[in-house]
Amino acid sequence: LNRDQVLRINVESEEHIHLLKELEDDQRWELDFWTHPVSTELPIDIHVPYSSLHVTKDFLQDNKIPFSVMINNLQVRKTSITFVLERYVTKIYSWMDTLVSDYPNLVSKMLIGTSYENRPMYVLKFSTGGTKRPAIWVDAGIHSREWVSSASTVWMANKMATDYGVDSSVTSLLDQMDVYLMIVNNPDGYVYTHTNDRMWRKTRSKNPGSVCRGVDPNRNWDAGFSGPGASNNPCSESYHGPHAHSEIEVKNVVDLVRSHGNFKAFISIHAYSQLLMYPYGYVCTSIPHQAELDSVGRSAVQALSSLYGTSYKVGSICKIIYQASGGSIDWSYDIGIKYSFAFELRDTGRYGFLLPASQIIPTASETWLGLKYIMEYVRDHPY
Ligand SMILES: [Zn+2]
Repeated sequence: LNRDQVLRINVESEEHIHLLKELEDDQRWELDFWTHPVSTELPIDIHVPYSSLHVTKDFLQDNKIPFSVMINNLQVRKTSITFVLERYVTKIYSWMDTLVSDYPNLVSKMLIGTSYENRPMYVLKFSTGGTKRPAIWVDAGIHSREWVSSASTVWMANKMATDYGVDSSVTSLLDQMDVYLMIVNNPDGYVYTHTNDRMWRKTRSKNPGSVCRGVDPNRNWDAGFSGPGASNNPCSESYHGPHAHSEIEVKNVVDLVRSHGNFKAFISIHAYSQLLMYPYGYVCTSIPHQAELDSVGRSAVQALSSLYGTSYKVGSICKIIYQASGGSIDWSYDIGIKYSFAFELRDTGRYGFLLPASQIIPTASETWLGLKYIMEYVRDHPY
């Protein structure tokens, strides 16, 4: 019987943060930090394997770090939710074909390469014509366990297709710009979350000399590569890989974006924590467009929240969560794509990665409003 738990810690001091950072760097107990020790303002959620529960709780108690059990029996809960969510998301690739055949003059499916385990990597391209029009990139599912990011993007792809010619804002957007949606950025990891380990985050590549597999694909981009907030340990959840763009899943996107050469926005969708972030993650200094991106982010979040009142925080990755190097939107910003953003969708930890399927459509509907705001802004502010 697997009785893994998720512990929630509300740190009270810098000393607690320091102790928890050491714990995160120590691979011995195979702890999986769902959120990271950064500030006393944000709770820290740790998935603790059954075999490490006792030592972990002792460690916390010995150091007078208060914690509560947020998810009591991870295995039991995951079975039922897996079942419900699967009905919505496992057929994504065949669903893409249906969308393309329903909207042949608007949507096409592009093969941009294959994954480490030779799965096709597809991008949905929304275009009403022209050649290499200014374009918006949106990707989801780079971290495979963040299912709601891909599920929401399925919904948003459908929304954009059905709204063209109906909603004046979507129509004017797609009359001027192309939109590229990558729904499953890490297909090997995504399949593995269905077949073996619901909590798998990384790619599935082999690491020579290590029994551990996979690289964190959002520490693998050529932006402050291998700096703070990425691990050089192949067993870590945030292993940066042997070199920048070592992961074929990352390289395929890099090659597409570079060869296209006219992307004006690059938006990555993750979960969870309810944040809208802009560069940088690899350093904590402000970017030249900090004021503009912060203001766009705040307006986008206002649009998002208008639907259900879901509250989001806005800021740079480094300031709002933690210093993290090798991230996708730092790379896109550094190659000149000014409007680079990352969403962390619902929730704030009640369900974490195991967000119930009943929240997929509400999450997608509100996210769409935020995303649409950003896309409209990009359309109206050419550069
Ligand atoms: Zn993520």
